[in-house]
Amino acid sequence: MIRDAYILTLNARNDIFEKGSVIVEDDKINFVGKAERIKEKDGAFEKVIDAGSNIIMPGLIDTHVHLAQALLRSIVPDDVRLIEWLKNWVWPLQGSFDKEDGQVSAQLCMLEMLRSGTTAFVESLLHTRYGFDGIAGVALKSGMRAVLSKAVMDIPGYAGQKDVIHPGMVEDRDESLNEFKRMHAKWNGAGAGRIQVWLGPRTPGACSESLYRTVAQIAREYTAGVTMHLAEVKEDLEYFSSLKTSPGEFVNRLGLTGSRRIFAHCVWLSEDDMRVFAKTGTSVAHCPSSNMKLGSGIAPVSEMLRLGVNVCLGCDGGPSNDDYDMIREVKLAVLLQKGINLNPNALTAVEALRMATVNGAKALGLENQIGSIEVGKKADLIIVDPRRPHLFPNINPISNIVYSATGADVRSVMIDGKLVMEDNQVLTLDEDSILKAASDKAEKLLHKSGKR
Ligand SMILES: [Zn+2]
Repeated sequence: MIRDAYILTLNARNDIFEKGSVIVEDDKINFVGKAERIKEKDGAFEKVIDAGSNIIMPGLIDTHVHLAQALLRSIVPDDVRLIEWLKNWVWPLQGSFDKEDGQVSAQLCMLEMLRSGTTAFVESLLHTRYGFDGIAGVALKSGMRAVLSKAVMDIPGYAGQKDVIHPGMVEDRDESLNEFKRMHAKWNGAGAGRIQVWLGPRTPGACSESLYRTVAQIAREYTAGVTMHLAEVKEDLEYFSSLKTSPGEFVNRLGLTGSRRIFAHCVWLSEDDMRVFAKTGTSVAHCPSSNMKLGSGIAPVSEMLRLGVNVCLGCDGGPSNDDYDMIREVKLAVLLQKGINLNPNALTAVEALRMATVNGAKALGLENQIGSIEVGKKADLIIVDPRRPHLFPNINPISNIVYSATGADVRSVMIDGKLVMEDNQVLTLDEDSILKAASDKAEKLLHKSGKR
């Protein structure tokens, strides 16, 4: 039992309980509400956490993550446009990864996500050379809820540019699809269902239409989700124009829309594209920090939401953000929409917080299991310590979380009913050894890739 908490349920009514309690049994929530109602049961609990008026809210769901990019933070230069940034830096570095680099980068990334209150994430593009088994093992050990998507490709290109992907990153059609099938057989459903294996076709320009159709067919066969980058920069739009189509029309025609289909970025969607996504239940992972840092543009999020698209949030990668802190991402998302729409009501704090929780759960097809604090749902929740100057006074905790907090204010994290961080101590991963290994690996990677 967690008692004396300020509970932001994010249920359909966005109920808030002051001095509330949450009771967790096994992996599920079996009570949420005012403490008086359960007083008589006190003493009957295996563990009682006195929240001391701390805020309890659902765990955050990051729907667009590159685990392999945590190691690239501060290595890749700032102030560079996307395609140049990929060609000259990200791909040569990731194309020099070995399985240990992949594992250490995943550890660093998950450590940061846990510390900042992320309980579930979607990794969008795992190449075989990063070592899937090692990365899945880290996800299992961390206690996190993870979607791990296998990169699929058959052309080493990006949009209209051919032969631009670093040779170390290139995989062929059968190699990438067979690795997906192997990974799915070995890991899908592992950790009592915490791990899902999805398909992550590369961005248009790196997959033939026939491969996209095959991906759609395999996804149906395996009941697997699909995630892909889409319409991130203007160059993508030029590519779709050359095919006399639009991003939404393109993916819909190839059978890639629907539930458990997440398209990252979608900065350059037309209104018709948005209507297609709304109609088909397709989700968009909005990545505001990454889009701002790479100068890609501002996604029309409030318009997408108005048209009924399920928009969730993503931190993207180590060198494009450069953090995996969802609370900071929520703030940027909400401010950008107010600013570009010249309307402070274009996106509200609670709508933005729902993007990071409820909408994320829906994107994963887990809306009945996670995303809010409700009886019968999985106990994926975080405790935020508001006893800090930047969170005082705490009259409106939703406003404080969205506008004033950062991930560093998260004190404890529970996933699937298990505490994975308690009082600022991560219990599932060895922080000191991960930080040391990350420094060593980053240094070696610079040499291996010829960047130093
Ligand atoms: Zn990305």
